[in-house]
Amino acid sequence: MAWVRCPDCPGSDMKWFGPLTEEEIPAARQVVAEARPEEYFVANAYHRCRHEGCRRIQRRDDWKRGGTLPEEG
Ligand SMILES: [Zn+2]
Repeated sequence: MAWVRCPDCPGSDMKWFGPLTEEEIPAARQVVAEARPEEYFVANAYHRCRHEGCRRIQRRDDWKRGGTLPEEG
């Protein structure tokens, strides 16, 4: 887990992020492909905000590079 800035959470403050789960990886790959088509997606380079209700994913090395996972279902 990493304590980093989350631009999706209210106030854009610091939140706990954890590794992508197996279920989250395909959706994250899609989000990154749309946001940054030039980037080769590596799941381990990303993590997800674990604050309740937040669906933000972003690069471990740059909190500004990321996106929001679509709602499930
Ligand atoms: Zn968040």
